[in-house]
Amino acid sequence: MANEKEIIQRKRTVLVVEDNEMNREILCELLSDDYEVLEAEDGSVGLAQLDAHSGEIALVLLDVYMPNCDGFEFLERKRQDPRFDTVPVIMMTASNTVDDEIRCLELGASDFITKPYNVEVMKNRMKSLIRLRESSTMLGRLETDSLTGLYSKEFFYHTLEEVLRANPDEHYDLVCSDVENFRTLNDRYGTAQCDSFLRAVADDLTDRIPGLLFGGRIGADVYAFLLRHYEGSWSGILTPEGEETRYAKFVVKYGIFANVDTSLPPAAICDRATLALGKIKKKFGVRVAWFDDEMRNLQLREHQIEENMETALSERQFVVYYQPKHDLHTDSTGGAEALVRWIHPELGFVSPGQFIPIFERNGFITSLDFFIWEEVCRELRRCIDAGLPVVPVSINASRMDFDVPDLAGEIAALANKYGLDHSLLHVELTESMYSDNPGKIEKTLEDLHNNGFHIELDDFGSGYSSLTSLNTLALDVMKVDMSLIRQAAATGDYSILRFCSLLADNLRLKTVVEGVETAEQVAALKVLGCDYIQGYYFSKPLPPKEFEEYLVAHSAKEVKA
Ligand code: C2E
Ligand code: CA
Ligand code: CA
Repeated sequence: MANEKEIIQRKRTVLVVEDNEMNREILCELLSDDYEVLEAEDGSVGLAQLDAHSGEIALVLLDVYMPNCDGFEFLERKRQDPRFDTVPVIMMTASNTVDDEIRCLELGASDFITKPYNVEVMKNRMKSLIRLRESSTMLGRLETDSLTGLYSKEFFYHTLEEVLRANPDEHYDLVCSDVENFRTLNDRYGTAQCDSFLRAVADDLTDRIPGLLFGGRIGADVYAFLLRHYEGSWSGILTPEGEETRYAKFVVKYGIFANVDTSLPPAAICDRATLALGKIKKKFGVRVAWFDDEMRNLQLREHQIEENMETALSERQFVVYYQPKHDLHTDSTGGAEALVRWIHPELGFVSPGQFIPIFERNGFITSLDFFIWEEVCRELRRCIDAGLPVVPVSINASRMDFDVPDLAGEIAALANKYGLDHSLLHVELTESMYSDNPGKIEKTLEDLHNNGFHIELDDFGSGYSSLTSLNTLALDVMKVDMSLIRQAAATGDYSILRFCSLLADNLRLKTVVEGVETAEQVAALKVLGCDYIQGYYFSKPLPPKEFEEYLVAHSAKEVKA
């Protein structure tokens, strides 16, 4: 890449395309003081010159009428090659040829001068056209990040695309770096220290990465580097000895997309490297990860899921399963949780663990949730009308659902549409949502509560627990995360569950423990005073018909008796 000074100081090269030898020589003579001049006696020779001196020629002076390949054809062919497309062309036309001039401008000529030409006018036009083009190119070249000296994100993407497009058969690797917990570090150590650290990392990597072509800063603390495919070991390069002491509290991690698929758009290429990074986030001691076949398949699957979701909804491929909640006090079914299932005609059974996170990312979850909620209402109505036993059903709400204006009003409208008592619907939300926008969540929960819906706090103890949320939210039920019973059963230590139970008692919340699979677990939870149990021990989630039968068999005995 030519540096800026070079661009400003060197004598530019211009190309004169003109079949009349005498005219051509006069022109060359006139320009030779200011420019290096190349000559061509017709359009095709001119194009050959452009090709041979690609990147050098600053401007073309072009005659219109020439044998062989005329000015029009020259313009037409020049336009098709991105290497030449932006080289400005001044047409040399005879007077009174307005039609020709219009046609030339349409074909991409920048300007024209009329023969016989005034030399000063011509030189000035040439100078300003050359300056115009160079300053716009310069703008592009200046697109580096001022802190690190790496390319800016846009320019990195742009360059990446150009390089890959020009060399589709080359083998490249893309490395993305990311600073663990950067935001917290920024708060703790201040901008100045973090900036100097970011600069040091960029410098180090620029020095160390073998076969490096260029790097860009594609996020606050995320860099991307393109290099020629590297076969050696990365460990000494990305995580050299002594780095720990140098960077002290900062940990840098790397995701590598080896043998980049050159046909992918630049953002997708970087995504793959950062996807690999995601795999080792918060994993202590693991610093480098590769985008591998497993991730490729996962991505394919994700793509499939997104492509199919709209159809799935309209074709009713989503069905609701019901998992009973067993009431330990009455020893009967006290409720159920509605869990979505996707039965795809070709993909088969797709587990919610696969598609829910995707829908939460792309926003589709809200459409799906409304569909599920309505299915639940319809089913409750059907059972009531058929004189079958019913229990309150919990529906799951995602964080995005809380962006719906008047969510409580919408759910109430649904329940009313099916003439259902609001106490028949419980809403489950996870604690992790609370940190997003506490004000809004609090308000919506209050609205739901005032509308008579019960609120269950899902996945309690799964790692997001903040006791504030327990105190400030309008809650009725604490659903204890499955991991807690699992851990208790494995260690025989039920103290955390005991604590949850006490806490719930104090806050006047009912408790549901999820994921209970054995009789021993049930017995232990009974002792702890837990209210409800949901888990395979009693039943897996069941399709509506089977759940209906289950309910008939397990309805409250006291009530029946
Ligand atoms: P969740 O709300 O925590 O649901 C409980 C999950 O635990 C369900 O998985 C259930 O099948 C499973 N489970 C219940 N008992 C046991 C047990 O004894 N052992 C084991 N190993 N697992 C048990 P599922 O149905 O795969 O759902 C996964 C997650 O997907 C749910 O977690 C929930 O977050 C989400 N989800 C499911 N349906 C919906 C929905 O309609 N809307 C929304 N927004 N999310 C949903
Ligand atoms: Ca749930
Ligand atoms: Ca749960």
